[in-house]
Amino acid sequence: MRGLLTILAYVLAFVTLTLGERIRYDGHQIWRVIPTSRIQLDFLGILKEESQKFQLDFWKEPSALHRPVVFKIPPSKRNEIYIRLGLQGLVPEVTLKDLQKNIEKEDALYTQKSFNGLENFDYSKYHPLSDVNAWMEQMANSYSNRVELFNISSSYEGRTITAMKITGANSSDSRPGFFFNGGIHAREWISPATVIYMAAQLIEQYGKNQEITDLLDEIDWYILPVFNVDGYEYTWTKDRNWRKTRSKHFLCHGVDPNRNWDWEWCKNGASKDPCSDTYCGPRPFSESEVKGVADFLNSVPGRFRAYIDFHSFSQLWMTPWGYTTALPPEFPVQDKCSTTATDALTAVHGTEYKHGNIASTIYTASGSSADWAFGAAKILYSTAVELRDTGEYGFLLPADQIIPSGEETLQGLLAMAKFILNNP
Ligand SMILES: [Zn+2]
Repeated sequence: MRGLLTILAYVLAFVTLTLGERIRYDGHQIWRVIPTSRIQLDFLGILKEESQKFQLDFWKEPSALHRPVVFKIPPSKRNEIYIRLGLQGLVPEVTLKDLQKNIEKEDALYTQKSFNGLENFDYSKYHPLSDVNAWMEQMANSYSNRVELFNISSSYEGRTITAMKITGANSSDSRPGFFFNGGIHAREWISPATVIYMAAQLIEQYGKNQEITDLLDEIDWYILPVFNVDGYEYTWTKDRNWRKTRSKHFLCHGVDPNRNWDWEWCKNGASKDPCSDTYCGPRPFSESEVKGVADFLNSVPGRFRAYIDFHSFSQLWMTPWGYTTALPPEFPVQDKCSTTATDALTAVHGTEYKHGNIASTIYTASGSSADWAFGAAKILYSTAVELRDTGEYGFLLPADQIIPSGEETLQGLLAMAKFILNNP
């Protein structure tokens, strides 16, 4: 019966999508619960395991006591899940009452959909992929001596994955390189938006802000605003809640591009089920997007001193490992760097970030970008960051938080860069 229902759901989704409509989430709510006992945490773990059966979509998985768990729930399951939670002494907080209303509000108020020149580019709005690409091209034209675009790879659906290199005076391949990317997970819109804001600041403040000028004269910055281009486009056109790539795997689409890296691939915290949101893929580096970035990071051994993968949400600044709670010998200096970065970040608007190793700070996840960048590409300062918020809006973060997020994250980034230059 369950199998039949699943197939029917896919057929329905297929029909809806072929008709070209965007998936609606009328009456879907976002619930947040905080487990305070081992029994409650174990119960939430079971709900997560059975999430397809209960039609729950975990935006933040159960991980540890006192750490928020956030999930999306359809109207038909509310009563049942409310009672089940109640039996465990858990009372959910409804953070979003109707996801569809938030999506429509975002569409009407928080997005800018057509590129109309650099001077009209609104950094306090979310932008579709075509506009992000147009913005990059214009930046490269307007600052042609310091901004260069390059193609990382092609996506599954044939889109070009474009990144920018930003430098100051006397750039050379022998200088340290920093690479950071946004948008590896499609629905985490604050990530590309924050990355775009920071890239613009690095470009425009050169020669005006002494700290930025110095850091651009000492470091070559490589910035990829939208990693998962197919998925990101899909969140704008078909399903705001999409996370993975768009490759086809029997009944389901997409691989989790942050479980597809060739480092302890598909062990803990990754799924072999193609329909799961954490599907690791048929093999490591099956996704051309992931392989493309990996090849680029490997292209000049020793060039990159830092790699940062920006996600949302939870406000965390994390270093390897993700696949195990065991700490690497380098963890003390890595975490000291995270402390420096988050202190600088918090000083801007008071936003509190936690830091630590990935597996203990968020959850165990194998085959992730930061683990591979550290383990295989030997980039000491490999980092995974979860941006705002802590679940009040989750992936539907209002656009009036883009600039504050950009401002504080930029200070974290600059503090991290200075720390690394002093602790190579
Ligand atoms: Zn993510």
